[in-house]
Amino acid sequence: MEIAVLSGKGGTGKTTVSLNLARAAEKVELLDCDVEEPNSHIFLNPKTPSEERIGVEYPIIDKKKCINCGACGRFCRFNAFISSPSLTISMPELCHSCGGCEMVCPEKAISYDIREIGSILKGTSKNINLSWGLLDVGQLSGVKIIEKLRKAPPTAPLRITDCPPGTSCSTVEAAEGANLAIIVAEPTPFGISDMLMVVEMLQTLKVPMALIINKAGLGDDKLHKLCEERNIPILGEIPFSREAAAIYARGDLLYEASDEFRKTFTDLYAAVTAKIQEGTVWQ
Ligand code: SF4
Ligand code: SF4
Repeated sequence: MEIAVLSGKGGTGKTTVSLNLARAAEKVELLDCDVEEPNSHIFLNPKTPSEERIGVEYPIIDKKKCINCGACGRFCRFNAFISSPSLTISMPELCHSCGGCEMVCPEKAISYDIREIGSILKGTSKNINLSWGLLDVGQLSGVKIIEKLRKAPPTAPLRITDCPPGTSCSTVEAAEGANLAIIVAEPTPFGISDMLMVVEMLQTLKVPMALIINKAGLGDDKLHKLCEERNIPILGEIPFSREAAAIYARGDLLYEASDEFRKTFTDLYAAVTAKIQEGTVWQ
């Protein structure tokens, strides 16, 4: 069973929800797929984490064989080739390792090498088996790291995936195929606008979705009305509070730092599991 936690933009509380729901669960696996800026490990502080370097294939052109026909460049949807009548070069950073350019090259001039793009780290913190991806500085895409994180065999009955914010390729890679997507949104005009992009993406992916409202009490009731109109279930609300901000800034978990927030996340976790069992989540 896999729950993807998403938000329209960074700073909405997606990681807070992922971490504290995970702590409220019994045995759980938490994947931090926000590979450009993972921070779950800072809050969970797993002891002696393991690290695996991740590499991806990229094309190398044999200049002796290449006739500069341009077929590789026409095929590659990621524009990873520059081709002219006298020269063809590849740009490894743009390659998504699909293998297609080798197949279309009439001269068998393309082979592949491996370049490292980042790491997957793993550790345990109480009830949580944590895995997080970390993209190397200067790399453009963490999709392959996310793919590898999600393809690993589950280590607990429930997996919670903290997805990258927004609606990028990385977010799609992290959320596609999840049993339930939880969108974390703020009840403000910007929060609603960002949330709607995620809703459209999840509809396209056909992932069932529900909402958790963070910083409840800010703004007005437009978010509630919108969810009612669109039949998006609201699983619960986390009230706007200076205490929550202070706990977060100290690097502590809300669930552990306050009885009030422990109850909030215990109730949210119960609502999430009930929604999954209900099996009638809105799509
Ligand atoms: S498809 Fe092959 S031969 Fe044609 S430009 Fe690309 S590498 Fe060269
Ligand atoms: S492997 Fe795929 S993505 Fe990479 S350069 Fe070739 S066609 Fe483009």
